[in-house]
Amino acid sequence: MSYTIVSDVCEAKADCIPVCPVDCIHWIKDKAWKNVKGLESTYIDNETCIDCGACLAACPVEGAILDEWKPELQKL
Ligand code: SF4
Ligand code: SF4
Repeated sequence: MSYTIVSDVCEAKADCIPVCPVDCIHWIKDKAWKNVKGLESTYIDNETCIDCGACLAACPVEGAILDEWKPELQKL
């Protein structure tokens, strides 16, 4: 399993990146891509995520991180 970052809800605050104990949160590779809010987003590497919940606790944007794996909502 893995958590999911909802690309169109994320507001690029990056509070999640430093708290992940396994460093599996990254900026989306395509720097030209923007979400519906006109912002960049981060994504979770689902093969590395250990479901610890630290990112969800740190994220200030409600609904930006889900405690389940929904790959259709997360751009890489
Ligand atoms: S998921 Fe939350 S903490 Fe992480 S970059 Fe997006 S808005 Fe910021
Ligand atoms: S749930 Fe834990 S391991 Fe998974 S992305 Fe969030 S902080 Fe990283």
